[in-house]
Amino acid sequence: MTNENTPGSPELKDIKFEKDPRACRIVCTLGPASSSPEVIEGLIKAGMNVARLNFSHGTRETHEKLIRKIRSASSKTGRPIAIMQDLQGHKVRLGHANASKSILLKQGDEIFIGQGEEITSERLGIDYLGAERFVEPGHRVFLDDARIELEVISCQEAELLCKVRKGAAVSSRKGVIFPDSEIEFPILNEKDLEDARFGADMGVDMVAMSFVRSSDEITRMRKHLGSCGQKKSFIVAKIEDGTGLQNLEEILKAANAVLIARGDLGVTLPREKVPGAQKSIISKANSMGVPSITATQMLESMIDHPQPTRAEVNDVYSAVLDGSHAIMLSAETAMGKYPEESVAEMDRIAREAELELNHRNRGVHTPVTGKEGINDLLAASAVIFAEHMAADCILAFSIEGTTHRALSTASPTVPLYGVLVDRSNLRQLLLYRGPNLTTMPHENRLDELVPQALKKLRDDGVVGSGDKIIIVARQPEPEADESFLLKLSILS
Ligand code: PEP
Repeated sequence: MTNENTPGSPELKDIKFEKDPRACRIVCTLGPASSSPEVIEGLIKAGMNVARLNFSHGTRETHEKLIRKIRSASSKTGRPIAIMQDLQGHKVRLGHANASKSILLKQGDEIFIGQGEEITSERLGIDYLGAERFVEPGHRVFLDDARIELEVISCQEAELLCKVRKGAAVSSRKGVIFPDSEIEFPILNEKDLEDARFGADMGVDMVAMSFVRSSDEITRMRKHLGSCGQKKSFIVAKIEDGTGLQNLEEILKAANAVLIARGDLGVTLPREKVPGAQKSIISKANSMGVPSITATQMLESMIDHPQPTRAEVNDVYSAVLDGSHAIMLSAETAMGKYPEESVAEMDRIAREAELELNHRNRGVHTPVTGKEGINDLLAASAVIFAEHMAADCILAFSIEGTTHRALSTASPTVPLYGVLVDRSNLRQLLLYRGPNLTTMPHENRLDELVPQALKKLRDDGVVGSGDKIIIVARQPEPEADESFLLKLSILS
């Protein structure tokens, strides 16, 4: 799906290997607080791997500008960054408030809800027509991740008259959830299809689908992306409600990655169910070789404060320890006062958690039957071999990234360096925990690539004399279908 020809997408040459790389990935949502080239560069330097563009907000024009800025900051810093387009999905949203002012809804107030583009203190316009067909008096309506709770009093033709049960200020485009009503949605909506086409034209690297409830939605989106010229689409399924959770296994089979959308999960399910859901999604995804992203409110207090709460530190640490491939910042980087500090904080916590994760994982490897077939077995063998030989790192070679994905699933307990021959696949690998990647030219054969990569590891300051490196590759010879290279190299 990566399009090297997207305007503002210069090819990254000679990507350096990093000493002591962090394995867990950091996804940052970009927004008003992070749309200047300086802040984007700051986020990259602090550790961002994936930039998320939320298509529930903004216009094509603002997204295109951001995409160009991200590509240019990536090229300036020499670090690859994946762009994740997050489609709105069938989430109902409020219209716009006049003159960017928020509207105060006080407990006991009465207010109408109906289709419309504007929100005022008398009526909240929403982007859904016909809610009255599914809503009954007594049903609840949550606004803005349930910060505001309304109760439906009566349905008057296409208008719902509601009473405010829990009040607060509400602003433009906030989410609207009907937790007691079975609202119907088309499988894929027009906005998502059009946005996906736009994203494909812009060469985004991955597409996140909101409120995924079945594998069918993913299959259809993949087909649509194919018709937009994307032969290798990368789809992230956002699990946001009980139906998505129920159908998790079929969704994981169809998707490339899964995102635990704790904001909406905490509204559509009782809040206390979310930690258990998070743990079971991560564990199921890991057992199937699918990367998971833990998202939302991870360092929420850093929207306004330079330091997180101790509980937030604990939350990030636990998400990494539970095996998340990536952790995500939302409003912290999109709208907060401390975007770069939030990434730096996440980076420190993740590194600390990885020390414990590696300690726990040592000696307990079971080959996963993931999505990479026999490569999963090769990867598990390499990880066990590396531990037994007390290796300093693993160096893996892959044409399209299959071996890197398999190694990521096998959870190596030493740093993993990867050489990728097909550079167009590089950014799609940036969600996988572990591989620190560079690219090398296609025309080289493995017997030339290995010494070249070993030299690069040394030149980039990663390894030195006496270091032990496990070298892994599949099919060293193009004509040999099932031959593998698994070798220990001790640097002279
Ligand atoms: C969430 O609900 O946690 C989430 C990530 O979804 P949204 O796109 O609505 O922020």
